[in-house]
Amino acid sequence: MSTTDNAATGVPMCAEHPTRAAVGTCERCGAFFCGACASPGGLSFCKNCEARRRYVAWEDMSLGRGQRFFDTVRSSITELPRFASELPLQGGFRAPLTFALLPNLLASVIVAAIGVLFIGAMMHAPLFATSKQGDAVSLIGAVAVFVTYFATALGSVLAYLTVWAGVLTGSARVFGAEGLRYESMFRILCYASGLNGLYVVPVIGTLVLVYHVVVTVFVISAQGRVSALTALAIIGVPAVLLGTCCCGSYLLFFFTMLSRH
Ligand SMILES: [Zn+2]
Ligand SMILES: [Zn+2]
Repeated sequence: MSTTDNAATGVPMCAEHPTRAAVGTCERCGAFFCGACASPGGLSFCKNCEARRRYVAWEDMSLGRGQRFFDTVRSSITELPRFASELPLQGGFRAPLTFALLPNLLASVIVAAIGVLFIGAMMHAPLFATSKQGDAVSLIGAVAVFVTYFATALGSVLAYLTVWAGVLTGSARVFGAEGLRYESMFRILCYASGLNGLYVVPVIGTLVLVYHVVVTVFVISAQGRVSALTALAIIGVPAVLLGTCCCGSYLLFFFTMLSRH
Protein backbone atom coordinates (compact mmCIF):
# COMPACT_ATOMS: atom_id res chain seq x y z
CA MET A 1 0.00 0.00 0.00
CA SER A 2 1.28 3.44 -0.88
CA THR A 3 2.00 5.78 2.03
CA THR A 4 -0.12 8.43 0.32
CA ASP A 5 -3.26 6.28 0.25
CA ASN A 6 -5.69 6.63 3.10
CA ALA A 7 -5.76 3.25 4.84
CA ALA A 8 -9.43 3.44 5.70
CA THR A 9 -10.99 4.68 2.47
CA GLY A 10 -8.36 4.01 -0.21
CA VAL A 11 -8.71 7.65 -1.31
CA PRO A 12 -5.33 9.05 -2.42
CA MET A 13 -4.04 11.72 -0.07
CA CYS A 14 -1.77 14.73 -0.80
CA ALA A 15 1.94 13.90 -0.65
CA GLU A 16 2.58 17.10 1.34
CA HIS A 17 -0.58 17.02 3.47
CA PRO A 18 -1.40 13.43 4.58
CA THR A 19 -4.77 14.55 5.96
CA ARG A 20 -6.05 16.15 2.74
CA ALA A 21 -7.58 14.24 -0.15
CA ALA A 22 -5.71 14.54 -3.43
CA VAL A 23 -7.33 16.38 -6.35
CA GLY A 24 -4.81 15.28 -8.97
CA THR A 25 -1.59 13.52 -9.87
CA CYS A 26 1.56 15.39 -10.95
CA GLU A 27 2.33 14.76 -14.62
CA ARG A 28 6.04 14.90 -13.90
CA CYS A 29 6.79 13.18 -10.57
CA GLY A 30 3.54 11.24 -10.12
CA ALA A 31 2.86 12.63 -6.62
CA PHE A 32 -0.73 13.17 -5.46
CA PHE A 33 -1.51 16.79 -4.66
CA CYS A 34 -4.35 18.55 -2.85
CA GLY A 35 -6.04 21.75 -4.02
CA ALA A 36 -3.60 23.92 -2.08
CA CYS A 37 -0.60 22.12 -3.61
CA ALA A 38 -1.83 22.19 -7.22
CA SER A 39 -0.02 24.57 -9.53
CA PRO A 40 -1.81 27.82 -10.41
CA GLY A 41 -3.41 28.07 -13.83
CA GLY A 42 -4.98 24.62 -13.65
CA LEU A 43 -1.87 22.80 -14.86
CA SER A 44 -1.37 19.22 -13.78
CA PHE A 45 1.83 19.65 -11.80
CA CYS A 46 2.53 19.61 -8.09
CA LYS A 47 3.90 22.83 -6.59
CA ASN A 48 7.50 21.54 -6.44
CA CYS A 49 7.62 20.42 -10.07
CA GLU A 50 5.82 23.57 -11.10
CA ALA A 51 8.48 25.72 -9.44
CA ARG A 52 11.27 23.74 -11.13
CA ARG A 53 9.51 23.89 -14.50
CA ARG A 54 9.23 27.70 -14.41
CA TYR A 55 11.99 29.73 -16.00
CA VAL A 56 12.66 33.13 -17.46
CA ALA A 57 16.28 34.19 -17.96
CA TRP A 58 15.57 37.72 -16.65
CA GLU A 59 14.93 36.34 -13.15
CA ASP A 60 17.92 33.96 -13.26
CA MET A 61 20.32 35.80 -10.98
CA SER A 62 23.22 33.51 -11.92
CA LEU A 63 23.47 35.44 -15.20
CA GLY A 64 24.71 38.99 -15.78
CA ARG A 65 22.13 41.74 -16.38
CA GLY A 66 22.84 42.07 -20.10
CA GLN A 67 22.74 38.32 -20.66
CA ARG A 68 19.52 38.02 -18.62
CA PHE A 69 17.89 40.60 -20.88
CA PHE A 70 19.09 39.25 -24.22
CA ASP A 71 18.47 35.59 -23.29
CA THR A 72 14.89 36.48 -22.37
CA VAL A 73 14.29 38.32 -25.65
CA ARG A 74 16.06 35.63 -27.69
CA SER A 75 14.11 32.71 -26.16
CA SER A 76 10.84 34.62 -26.62
CA ILE A 77 11.60 34.65 -30.35
CA THR A 78 13.49 31.42 -31.09
CA GLU A 79 11.79 29.15 -28.51
CA LEU A 80 8.44 30.90 -28.14
CA PRO A 81 6.27 27.82 -27.26
CA ARG A 82 8.68 26.77 -24.47
CA PHE A 83 9.12 30.39 -23.33
CA ALA A 84 5.32 30.77 -23.19
CA SER A 85 4.66 27.65 -21.10
CA GLU A 86 7.62 28.19 -18.72
CA LEU A 87 7.20 31.92 -18.05
CA PRO A 88 6.63 32.29 -14.28
CA LEU A 89 3.35 34.15 -13.80
CA GLN A 90 3.89 34.59 -10.09
CA GLY A 91 6.78 36.34 -8.41
CA GLY A 92 5.76 39.96 -8.12
CA PHE A 93 5.79 43.08 -10.26
CA ARG A 94 9.28 44.50 -9.78
CA ALA A 95 11.40 42.18 -11.93
CA PRO A 96 9.05 42.21 -14.98
CA LEU A 97 8.56 45.98 -14.67
CA THR A 98 12.33 46.55 -14.74
CA PHE A 99 12.55 44.30 -17.79
CA ALA A 100 9.84 46.26 -19.62
CA LEU A 101 11.15 49.69 -18.62
CA LEU A 102 14.74 49.07 -19.69
CA PRO A 103 14.13 49.12 -23.49
CA ASN A 104 11.29 51.63 -23.12
CA LEU A 105 13.46 54.09 -21.21
CA LEU A 106 16.11 53.80 -23.90
CA ALA A 107 13.50 54.48 -26.58
CA SER A 108 12.09 57.38 -24.53
CA VAL A 109 15.51 58.99 -24.39
CA ILE A 110 15.80 58.70 -28.20
CA VAL A 111 12.27 60.06 -28.73
CA ALA A 112 12.97 62.91 -26.30
CA ALA A 113 16.24 63.73 -28.06
CA ILE A 114 14.50 63.73 -31.47
CA GLY A 115 11.80 65.97 -29.98
CA VAL A 116 14.41 68.45 -28.76
CA LEU A 117 16.16 68.55 -32.14
CA PHE A 118 12.87 68.76 -34.06
CA ILE A 119 11.38 71.57 -31.98
CA GLY A 120 14.74 73.32 -31.96
CA ALA A 121 14.79 73.22 -35.76
CA MET A 122 11.12 74.28 -35.99
CA MET A 123 11.62 77.36 -33.84
CA HIS A 124 14.90 78.23 -35.56
CA ALA A 125 16.29 78.36 -32.07
CA PRO A 126 19.82 77.08 -32.41
CA LEU A 127 20.65 74.71 -29.60
CA PHE A 128 24.17 75.98 -29.66
CA ALA A 129 23.67 79.72 -29.64
CA THR A 130 26.65 81.99 -29.82
CA SER A 131 25.79 84.44 -27.05
CA LYS A 132 25.96 83.39 -23.40
CA GLN A 133 22.33 84.44 -22.79
CA GLY A 134 21.03 82.62 -25.88
CA ASP A 135 22.93 79.55 -24.73
CA ALA A 136 21.17 79.49 -21.37
CA VAL A 137 17.69 80.08 -22.85
CA SER A 138 17.97 77.38 -25.51
CA LEU A 139 19.49 74.97 -22.99
CA ILE A 140 16.58 75.45 -20.56
CA GLY A 141 14.13 75.08 -23.46
CA ALA A 142 15.88 71.92 -24.65
CA VAL A 143 15.85 70.40 -21.15
CA ALA A 144 12.14 71.25 -20.73
CA VAL A 145 11.24 69.64 -24.06
CA PHE A 146 13.39 66.61 -23.24
CA VAL A 147 11.81 66.12 -19.80
CA THR A 148 8.29 66.54 -21.25
CA TYR A 149 8.86 63.98 -23.98
CA PHE A 150 10.58 61.59 -21.59
CA ALA A 151 7.85 61.85 -18.92
CA THR A 152 5.10 61.41 -21.53
CA ALA A 153 6.77 58.33 -23.00
CA LEU A 154 7.43 56.80 -19.57
CA GLY A 155 3.94 57.67 -18.33
CA SER A 156 2.25 56.07 -21.32
CA VAL A 157 4.27 52.86 -20.86
CA LEU A 158 3.33 52.65 -17.17
CA ALA A 159 -0.32 53.47 -17.94
CA TYR A 160 -0.39 50.84 -20.69
CA LEU A 161 1.06 48.09 -18.47
CA THR A 162 -1.08 48.78 -15.40
CA VAL A 163 -4.41 49.57 -17.08
CA TRP A 164 -4.17 47.08 -19.95
CA ALA A 165 -3.23 44.26 -17.54
CA GLY A 166 -6.48 44.96 -15.69
CA VAL A 167 -8.54 45.03 -18.89
CA LEU A 168 -7.01 41.74 -20.08
CA THR A 169 -7.57 40.08 -16.69
CA GLY A 170 -11.29 40.83 -17.00
CA SER A 171 -11.34 39.78 -20.64
CA ALA A 172 -9.55 36.48 -19.83
CA ARG A 173 -12.22 35.73 -17.23
CA VAL A 174 -15.00 36.43 -19.74
CA PHE A 175 -13.38 34.10 -22.31
CA GLY A 176 -12.84 31.33 -19.74
CA ALA A 177 -9.03 31.36 -19.46
CA GLU A 178 -7.96 29.68 -16.22
CA GLY A 179 -6.00 31.22 -13.37
CA LEU A 180 -4.79 34.37 -15.11
CA ARG A 181 -4.85 36.98 -12.37
CA TYR A 182 -3.85 40.66 -12.60
CA GLU A 183 -0.29 39.82 -11.58
CA SER A 184 -0.11 37.16 -14.33
CA MET A 185 -1.31 39.57 -17.01
CA PHE A 186 1.02 42.31 -15.86
CA ARG A 187 3.97 39.93 -16.03
CA ILE A 188 2.94 38.67 -19.48
CA LEU A 189 2.68 42.22 -20.87
CA CYS A 190 6.06 43.15 -19.38
CA TYR A 191 7.88 40.09 -20.70
CA ALA A 192 6.36 40.64 -24.15
CA SER A 193 7.88 44.15 -24.21
CA GLY A 194 11.53 43.23 -24.74
CA LEU A 195 11.68 44.70 -28.23
CA ASN A 196 9.74 47.87 -27.38
CA GLY A 197 12.93 49.94 -27.54
CA LEU A 198 12.82 49.50 -31.32
CA TYR A 199 9.44 51.19 -31.79
CA VAL A 200 11.22 54.44 -32.61
CA VAL A 201 12.57 52.86 -35.81
CA PRO A 202 10.11 53.35 -38.71
CA VAL A 203 8.53 50.13 -40.12
CA ILE A 204 10.16 48.03 -37.39
CA GLY A 205 7.75 49.71 -34.97
CA THR A 206 4.87 47.74 -36.51
CA LEU A 207 6.83 44.49 -36.21
CA VAL A 208 7.45 45.26 -32.53
CA LEU A 209 3.68 45.54 -32.00
CA VAL A 210 3.12 42.23 -33.85
CA TYR A 211 5.83 40.58 -31.73
CA HIS A 212 4.25 41.98 -28.54
CA VAL A 213 0.80 40.61 -29.48
CA VAL A 214 2.16 37.21 -30.64
CA VAL A 215 4.11 36.64 -27.40
CA THR A 216 1.11 37.73 -25.31
CA VAL A 217 -1.21 35.39 -27.25
CA PHE A 218 1.20 32.44 -26.85
CA VAL A 219 1.56 32.87 -23.08
CA ILE A 220 -2.18 33.40 -22.49
CA SER A 221 -2.96 30.37 -24.66
CA ALA A 222 -0.34 28.10 -23.01
CA GLN A 223 -1.00 29.07 -19.41
CA GLY A 224 -4.67 30.00 -19.50
CA ARG A 225 -5.38 26.72 -21.30
CA VAL A 226 -7.31 28.29 -24.17
CA SER A 227 -6.82 28.08 -27.94
CA ALA A 228 -4.65 30.65 -29.69
CA LEU A 229 -7.81 32.05 -31.30
CA THR A 230 -9.46 32.57 -27.89
CA ALA A 231 -6.25 34.17 -26.60
CA LEU A 232 -6.32 36.51 -29.60
CA ALA A 233 -9.94 37.36 -28.81
CA ILE A 234 -9.00 38.09 -25.17
CA ILE A 235 -6.69 40.83 -26.47
CA GLY A 236 -8.52 41.80 -29.65
CA VAL A 237 -12.08 42.29 -28.38
CA PRO A 238 -11.25 44.89 -25.68
CA ALA A 239 -8.75 46.54 -28.07
CA VAL A 240 -11.42 46.93 -30.77
CA LEU A 241 -14.02 48.09 -28.22
CA LEU A 242 -11.62 50.64 -26.78
CA GLY A 243 -10.60 51.78 -30.27
CA THR A 244 -14.25 52.18 -31.27
CA CYS A 245 -15.02 54.16 -28.12
CA CYS A 246 -12.01 56.43 -28.64
CA CYS A 247 -12.77 57.01 -32.34
CA GLY A 248 -16.47 57.44 -31.56
CA SER A 249 -15.94 60.05 -28.86
CA TYR A 250 -13.36 61.80 -31.03
CA LEU A 251 -15.79 61.97 -33.97
CA LEU A 252 -18.59 63.11 -31.65
CA PHE A 253 -16.34 65.84 -30.28
CA PHE A 254 -15.30 66.79 -33.84
CA PHE A 255 -18.86 67.07 -35.15
CA THR A 256 -20.05 68.93 -32.04
CA MET A 257 -17.32 71.50 -32.62
CA LEU A 258 -18.16 71.63 -36.33
CA SER A 259 -21.92 72.18 -35.74
CA ARG A 260 -21.17 75.16 -33.50
CA HIS A 261 -19.75 77.13 -36.41
ZN1 LIG B 1 5.54 16.77 -9.12
ZN1 LIG C 1 -1.24 19.47 -0.21
